[in-house]
Amino acid sequence: MTRVFEARGDSPGANLAQGFPDFPAPELMKEAACQAIRDNHNQYAITWGAKNLRKAIADKTERHYGVRPDPEREITIACGTTEAMMAAMMALVDPGDEVIVFEPYYENYGPDAILSGATPRFVRLREPDWRFDSDELTAAFNNKTRAIIICNPGNPTGKVFHRDELEFIAALCQKWDVVAITDEIYEHIVYDGAHIRMADIPGMAERTVTIAGVSKTYSATGWRIGWLIAPPEATIAIRKVHDFLTVGAPAPLQEGAVCALQFPNGYYQELARLYATKRDLLLPVLEEIGFIVYRPQGAYYLMTDASALMRRTGHDDDVAFALWMIEELGVATVPGGSFYSRKEDGRSKIRFCFCKTPETLKLAGDLLRQGLDGRQVR
Ligand code: PLP
Repeated sequence: MTRVFEARGDSPGANLAQGFPDFPAPELMKEAACQAIRDNHNQYAITWGAKNLRKAIADKTERHYGVRPDPEREITIACGTTEAMMAAMMALVDPGDEVIVFEPYYENYGPDAILSGATPRFVRLREPDWRFDSDELTAAFNNKTRAIIICNPGNPTGKVFHRDELEFIAALCQKWDVVAITDEIYEHIVYDGAHIRMADIPGMAERTVTIAGVSKTYSATGWRIGWLIAPPEATIAIRKVHDFLTVGAPAPLQEGAVCALQFPNGYYQELARLYATKRDLLLPVLEEIGFIVYRPQGAYYLMTDASALMRRTGHDDDVAFALWMIEELGVATVPGGSFYSRKEDGRSKIRFCFCKTPETLKLAGDLLRQGLDGRQVR
């Protein structure tokens, strides 16, 4: 077969792999960060985060969820959600503990638990709607369980946890004295229904660490600004670990984040609408080509079953097929096995990321159609 790469000439192909936007962050926040550099915010910020940023997070949380965390005792700024998750686990989990992780999961959670000396215990979310089996989850809790990680909305699934699911998890956390660490980095990218914070489920505020950041909401993955909202005692421990891990998040970008957090409500409505448009550009094309797509309720990924296409193109698994799509079609995706503790459980799956410009999404669709649409390609 003619390699599509060659046929495309200089085209860079379409990268729908890692979850970073290929369009700019909002001008206002960029200008605020530049101004902060000019205004000499170029030294260490307070290690647990600039006061005005912690206040801006408290204000925004109150505006959106009607609850105001205490910026002095409950909010910590970290170098991205990634560091926030690591700091939370290292602070709250001890060697020998077990940490429950829903799978498929964002790749870092398993290693984060292991680095904290704990054993991750995986509980399956099952397609098409990625609900957990309540018996399986109940059986995963025991007196070694210290924490449960929840990604809501979820990467890679796009799952938005419903209230009944959160209440079920909450009851188990309370029964077994377990902390919920919730990664809510996609809190504002929800298509159907509403985002419900685990911290707002009755009885959970005192045992929940809520993690979020600027990467996805403000299209600024390179800024490395994230935060944790946690009860005061947990916050003391988290701040200590955070100090040792990174000293503090970039000072001028914390000022830029203050600006972003003050965007009016319309910004967030527009963000969700924009991503729904992007989802609707890519999803039908994938279905038409032969991927089974699990329609996401939030976040900006499409988890798919590609087994029919793998068979048709003579590939045994997700890695071989994803490599072939890069090399032959010029489309980068993530093999499904990356999101499972046993790689073979994801071997029929491919994840597409759609936080891209319409041009990139259209190019991806064209390249995939050209290489896969109804043709015996190998
Ligand atoms: N958590 C989830 C669920 C993600 O999907 C990602 C990035 O893709 C991150 C955390 C990383 O966030 P940050 O850039 O804030 O470290």
